[in-house]
Amino acid sequence: MTDSATSASFAEPVPEIHRPYAAAEDRYTHWDYRRVGKSGLFLPPLSLGLWWNFGDNRAFDTQREILRHAFDHGINHFDLANNYGPPFGSAEENFGRMMRTDFAPYRDELILSTKAGYEMWPGPYGNHGSRKYLLASLDASLTRMSVDYVDIFYSHRSDPDTPLEETIGALDTAVRQGKALYAGISSYSPERTIEAVAIADRLGTPIVIHQPSYSMLNRWVEEGLLLTLEQQGLGSIGFGSLAQGLLSDRYVESAAPERAQDRGSFDDSMANEDNRERLRGLAAIAKKRKQSLAQMAISWTLRPGGVTSALIGVSSVKQLDENLAAAGRNDFTDDELAEIDRFAGEAGINIWAQSSDD
Ligand code: NAP
Repeated sequence: MTDSATSASFAEPVPEIHRPYAAAEDRYTHWDYRRVGKSGLFLPPLSLGLWWNFGDNRAFDTQREILRHAFDHGINHFDLANNYGPPFGSAEENFGRMMRTDFAPYRDELILSTKAGYEMWPGPYGNHGSRKYLLASLDASLTRMSVDYVDIFYSHRSDPDTPLEETIGALDTAVRQGKALYAGISSYSPERTIEAVAIADRLGTPIVIHQPSYSMLNRWVEEGLLLTLEQQGLGSIGFGSLAQGLLSDRYVESAAPERAQDRGSFDDSMANEDNRERLRGLAAIAKKRKQSLAQMAISWTLRPGGVTSALIGVSSVKQLDENLAAAGRNDFTDDELAEIDRFAGEAGINIWAQSSDD
């Protein structure tokens, strides 16, 4: 036996996560993809967002395990933004690393999105809705993500101080430059959405998708936005269906459960006694449906008349598996919906309300 054969036979086995990735062959058998408004774009019922848990404060191997598992189970849409992390930009950088190591062969199967609109870098051109900011930010996002183009580029929020023609014109330029395939808007009010759609149509780059917050504890989209989107032929991808984790059994059991990380965006007072009373009522309904509260919260946003895709966040493969099981369960009886309405309502958790008021 040679020395090299001896050392090879005693070598540590390579952990699965460090082996080259080959996507599961049955990845398109789990569900039907849903058409985004009147466009040719399709999204999975569940999409995965990289806002928290994919920055530099989380183990890269865990992130990679989650994304591989998601793609293997039919989630071909990953949603990012310039400032996801922490720190800002790190989620795109980590995703770029996974793009290079795992997902490059699957680029044509993936729907990747990014956004600009919130604070990213210092000075007047690192925030809000100017052409200068949006186009510079998109270039930086593409570099971090290791891709030539994203599928959807969003204006992350409405900016009342910048002419809407300028913001939407930047989306149109991004598409004409081939740096984005589709244009989207996020957290725009119904009125602002109608204006944005009209401008985009005039420019020849239709807006195909709106990304609003939506959950059983935050139902503002039902007051006109969903109807507007239907009338305008746009699809929707609702974020925060778990109210940043509040809509889960963890908060039924404890007002301060352990979280994967301290989210600056989650105020512990959101788990106040009034809201936990709502959670207890909703969890009881979920139990009757043989679902966890998190599962029912996702299923509910996907019910007929709800959103095209539910954009979820997770910190583990275990959570992802639990949530994946929600996708085939968006069937609710009228009685269930009425019972849910007794507990579901505005709970003071919509931290994006200002953007949709502008
Ligand atoms: P979310 O789905 O409401 O909350 C995700 C969090 O809930 C997870 O991080 C996890 O908390 C917890 N969770 C997930 N599954 C669970 C389960 N089965 N049981 C118990 N807890 C569970 O959404 P989000 O993370 O706030 O946002 C999702 C995505 O939406 C973002 O990544 C981003 O892509 C997008 N988004 C967009 C905007 C916008 O302005 N356009 C704003 C916010 C978000 P732990 O991490 O503590 O485990």
